[in-house]
Amino acid sequence: MVFLAAVLGLFIGSFLNVCIYRIPRGESIIWPGSRCTKCGTPVKARDNIPVISYLVLGGKCRFCAEPIAVRYPVVELLSALLAVSLLYRFGPTPAFAVYYAWACVLLVITFIDLDFQVIPDRFSLGGIVVGLPLVYFLPVTYRDALMGLVLGGGMLMAIIYGYYFLTKKEGMGGGDVKLLAMIGVFTGWQGVLFTVFASSLIGTLIGLPWVLLKKGPEGTLKAAIPFGPFLALGALIYVFWGQLLIGWYFGFLG
Ligand SMILES: [Zn+2]
Repeated sequence: MVFLAAVLGLFIGSFLNVCIYRIPRGESIIWPGSRCTKCGTPVKARDNIPVISYLVLGGKCRFCAEPIAVRYPVVELLSALLAVSLLYRFGPTPAFAVYYAWACVLLVITFIDLDFQVIPDRFSLGGIVVGLPLVYFLPVTYRDALMGLVLGGGMLMAIIYGYYFLTKKEGMGGGDVKLLAMIGVFTGWQGVLFTVFASSLIGTLIGLPWVLLKKGPEGTLKAAIPFGPFLALGALIYVFWGQLLIGWYFGFLG
């Protein structure tokens, strides 16, 4: 079953690459089939095997020899890793299927946000609409999910307005608000608190050196770092280890 999850994860990851590339460019994710983004030659089935084809082709298009971004096998491997680890976490249950689909959406959001600094509404708002009925299958009560939705939306909104009030500048975008509200549906309000805490911590650890090394426009400190990937990462950490970390933290406090 683990092997099956890994293989399925690789092929779904291959499809996620298509979504990441095409959705923000307004292209269809179904037609046409995969093609080289440089020379446009359609990719043959034997060259479209996740990770393996990348290695066999030496990371280059068979026709124009242009390098294929290493991100493609990375996304495929991440997808497989998520499938396998969620299977270990939840077993072959509906909760596994829902959380894996959700993790795939978070993966797509992460890379689109990295590329374009935008989180498409179809994933954040769409995730809320699709997610609410699916809460039934998750280890989250409806009360917690609804509170997560409201808290997730409200909390970041307050931070954004507060930041704007203090600095008269826009920090995070509305896309992050909608994403955290969507995360709240799948994790409950506890997950929202954890995600905000974890993503701020990771964002500071990774973002601060980034900002210092790579100065923003006009030498300011405010370089554009998308926050969506950190929210996605924090939410996934919560699903895997949230309860454990929270228990450990409060045990540590006595
Ligand atoms: Zn090519």
